[in-house]
Amino acid sequence: MSGSLSMRVELMKQIANEPVVDLRTVGIALTLRCNFQCAHCITESGPENRQTIDKSQALALIDRIACESENICFTGGESFLRRNDLFVCIARARELGLNVSAVTNGFWAKNDEQTRETLHRLAECGLSGICISLDRFHLPFVEPSNALRIARLCQEYGLNHLIRVCATVDDEFAEELINPGRYPGVNFQRVRVLKMGRAVHLPAHSFKSSPEFPDGCCSTVRSPIVLPGGLVQACCGPGVHFREKNPLNLGNWKNEDLSTILRRARTSPLVMALYSFGPKRIAELLDSVSHYDNVRQRPQYTGICELCVDMCNQENTVAVMERVLCQPEMSMKLIASIAYQQSFRYLDRFDYMDLPE
Ligand code: SF4
Ligand code: SF4
Repeated sequence: MSGSLSMRVELMKQIANEPVVDLRTVGIALTLRCNFQCAHCITESGPENRQTIDKSQALALIDRIACESENICFTGGESFLRRNDLFVCIARARELGLNVSAVTNGFWAKNDEQTRETLHRLAECGLSGICISLDRFHLPFVEPSNALRIARLCQEYGLNHLIRVCATVDDEFAEELINPGRYPGVNFQRVRVLKMGRAVHLPAHSFKSSPEFPDGCCSTVRSPIVLPGGLVQACCGPGVHFREKNPLNLGNWKNEDLSTILRRARTSPLVMALYSFGPKRIAELLDSVSHYDNVRQRPQYTGICELCVDMCNQENTVAVMERVLCQPEMSMKLIASIAYQQSFRYLDRFDYMDLPE
């Protein structure tokens, strides 16, 4: 092999080993404890959940996250229950050049004075934006005025804000809250309640369901989450339903370097396929390429996550997916598709905060 050819081969190998997926953000749950216990909570957080990441561990993890992502989101549980540690962690993340966001239920925003004091500290530490969750399931625990107060006062401190409203079918609270013109200057994001975590116990009429495989790509799969127990999962939320060998369980930060674990997501054909094609199209591929049609695990679906979790929890299906998605032509299609989509993607001011709590 001539010198220049061997150099080119070496270069191609390096390119092939480089991460392709640009992580949207990395979530870190300093705690899964929450002072609320919402009936739809996907992470099944509540006062009894005592899982936490201590401050020194969190700082070390943030250092590794900065190697793989431009954005970090402090989520939970309710990370503001660890207020002082949260401030320290935000400041470290910002020092490392990360865009920093945080998710909260807003329990601390009882009046303007307390809210201003907290927002001032957050802005000093370098927070970019705050996402406040508010929906009808929060109402037994908090006044809606808390979230609206945070949204209003964020502007004084140059902080972006977003009120995320989880809504079921025919959700009157969500309709009224998001009613255009009712709260000028307040940014709302309406998302569907996923029938996962504690929400599996909500009445059936809360969800739209269909026997068809649900269609759609997954953008959340580019937002992995670092959990207190050690687990790092490829997406935030539905992971409570992942079985141990589910490939969306990326690794355990207590046993392995977090940067290595996150790179696993950034080079994973499955992550690329979920982002580019979505679970339904992957199921169709398995059928057309390998005549594998053993994906269905339930008669009705309420969203793509149910199909995805079922597929990725089945070892047989995962083995076929790995074979099909790693074929050379398919790998090239996946890389091209990711590169194409990422070239068009722009990070708007809320994009990196788009994490389900
Ligand atoms: S949805 Fe949010 S506020 Fe409610 S229990 Fe879960 S983490 Fe806490
Ligand atoms: S579709 Fe799969 S990867 Fe995406 S959020 Fe749902 S469970 Fe996670």
